[in-house]
Amino acid sequence: KTFPECPLDRQQLGRNSWSVLHTIAAYYPETPTVDQQKDMVQFMALFTKFYPCTDCSEDFKERLIANPPATQNNSILSQWLCAMHNEVNVKLGKPEFDCNLVNQRWRNGWKDGSCD
Ligand code: FAD
Repeated sequence: KTFPECPLDRQQLGRNSWSVLHTIAAYYPETPTVDQQKDMVQFMALFTKFYPCTDCSEDFKERLIANPPATQNNSILSQWLCAMHNEVNVKLGKPEFDCNLVNQRWRNGWKDGSCD
């Protein structure tokens, strides 16, 4: 029996949102224009503003103030987002992710070829 699809709970919303955010960071330009850099700062602020989990967004807004998006290039943005996600992981008692692996996880696939 197949079940109808349901609205996202907080965990599903989080997992899907991190997927979008990390994938966007993974494909952010190597040499972004000044406008692209400003837009990315705006995007993070607006994403947070409309994120439909109030305590998550209030918390993340504070984190963005303390640690604003580092938008200089693809690698710097990906590492910044990894660190931000790790802050949330720590808060929730989840294991920290090794940020050296962020490109394999979100762009290139694992070195062992398991994503090919
Ligand atoms: P997730 O944390 O959703 O991670 C999904 C996948 O991302 C992991 O399986 C792993 O492969 C990869 N990953 C994990 N860590 C990293 C990292 N540091 N860098 C790159 N990739 C990584 N939930 C709350 O209960 N309270 C909150 O305050 C809260 N704030 C949130 C704020 C934001 C901006 C977002 C997007 C989500 C927030 N969530 C919050 C949801 C929470 O972070 C998780 O998404 C949710 O609990 C589901 O967790 P998960 O174990 O499936 O893995």
